[in-house]
Amino acid sequence: MIELPDPKFLADENVAKLGKWLRILGYDVAYRSPATDAQLALLALREGRVILTRDRGFLERRMAEKCLLIESQDAIEQLQQVIQTLGLKPERNHLFTRCLSCNVLIVPIPKAEVRSVVPDYVYKNHDEFHRCPTCERLFWKGSHTKNFQKWFREIDN
Ligand SMILES: [Zn+2]
Repeated sequence: MIELPDPKFLADENVAKLGKWLRILGYDVAYRSPATDAQLALLALREGRVILTRDRGFLERRMAEKCLLIESQDAIEQLQQVIQTLGLKPERNHLFTRCLSCNVLIVPIPKAEVRSVVPDYVYKNHDEFHRCPTCERLFWKGSHTKNFQKWFREIDN
């Protein structure tokens, strides 16, 4: 078992969806761009990332020290495997703190600033807005976040 207080990850492209879920939980997840195994291992080592992959061969070639072989094909089961194996304790206040596209922390912005850019019903029904400093996408708590928080409560217990 690898013990890290706040692990950063490097997700292989075969577990891209898992990487997205981890970003939702607030973890720093980089993706594997087309690269050799050696480059991938070097990047993980340099940035202190745990490699997540479904590629058994990668593990067998002992390319990296911190590598977790993901077993299931189902993203939720994969997430549970990561949480259990690494002993993660995802915190509710870290949920949706990161842009899912850019992997950077999103920042709160005053409601008045979004008046002209979001639909009226969104403006009327929400008070908290965040923006990604990289892609400038806006975030607010929508129905998908509610569903996710419900699921989170289930695994949290
Ligand atoms: Zn972004």
